[in-house]
Amino acid sequence: MIKTPDESGGDKGVPFYAPGHVKDHPDIGQHCEAKTGGINITVSITTTDSDNTKTSDLIPVITLISPRHQDSWIFTRKGDARGYIDSERLDELWIHTGTACNLACPFCLEGSKPGDTRLPAMSLDMLKPFIHEAVDMGVKQFSFTGGEPFVVRDFANILDYASQFRPCFVLTNGTRVLTQRAHQLLPLKSNPFPISFRISLDYPDAARHDIGRGEGSFKESLDSLKWLLDNGFKVSIARQMELQEDSIAVERAYHDIFVQHGITQELPFTAFPDFGTPGTDDGSPEVTTACMEKYPTQQSRSHFMCTYTRMLVNTGKGVRVYACTLVDDDPDYDLGATLAESMQARIMLRHHRCFSCYKFGASCSAPA
Ligand code: SF4
Repeated sequence: MIKTPDESGGDKGVPFYAPGHVKDHPDIGQHCEAKTGGINITVSITTTDSDNTKTSDLIPVITLISPRHQDSWIFTRKGDARGYIDSERLDELWIHTGTACNLACPFCLEGSKPGDTRLPAMSLDMLKPFIHEAVDMGVKQFSFTGGEPFVVRDFANILDYASQFRPCFVLTNGTRVLTQRAHQLLPLKSNPFPISFRISLDYPDAARHDIGRGEGSFKESLDSLKWLLDNGFKVSIARQMELQEDSIAVERAYHDIFVQHGITQELPFTAFPDFGTPGTDDGSPEVTTACMEKYPTQQSRSHFMCTYTRMLVNTGKGVRVYACTLVDDDPDYDLGATLAESMQARIMLRHHRCFSCYKFGASCSAPA
């Protein structure tokens, strides 16, 4: 259940951050709690119930070394008031098409693979009421992620329906599952709103990309990229961000590869840090209300996706509204059964990926 402490100090008298309150703010890491763990290591704990049933759980080592405060939604491990976001508006509605994918990349933040059912496939019938609710709320864009949207049977119908109402944006690995749907995509060009794509190309190096995604996948994605551009669709690139990288040099290396492939236009990039796999806790620093004084205004908080987006997830027991695209592995970020309900919830920055938003400004949204 989502807990929403009130502005005057929460349910335990903790002084919550008041919007507009400006103080000097030290750099990241001084205000935020120190990293309490290292890489994600788990241990298997086996318990025996009264009926002699044995249950095994994988527990992150971080949880054993530094257990959560008893009310971890509101407080950090050290008992400090946790940072939070109060959403302002619904600009963008993400739709999770399900965790099945044609690839099985070891680093996938969704843990996706062929046949995966952690999040079952979305259907058009499930989505329709949310599309209409979002339009009534003034949404500006529908965005789609997976898994791989193009392995979902209903996906062309979903795109067709959504692009009658708003522009659509699709994250895809761009392998042949996309070009196999060419005959379904081309007719959508005459719909009232445009459809744009973001293709994942991890590195400007085919061999390195293919280590994670499978041999030949870089070439398939390049072919899809060219096909989309040749047919008048807008495309951007998702790439992996590396520490200490020279971003300009990295993106120039991509451009050189694109030119060799007959793609001469400049394409926008979005670089992502390593978000870890689902259900993990990498011991990232926790974001406290004091940390959030770095972002004192509505405008400065607007890079946190949860201020302006929501994501729909098919849980297998119905569609639920989650806070953003990065937290579908934690049911505390299930904000309700309708978009209107979800906008009432205060979002506590407890998920380890919240620190990526804090530090890198990570956003899945389309580049402006
Ligand atoms: S991961 Fe980022 S966008 Fe999602 S709830 Fe945390 S801070 Fe908000």
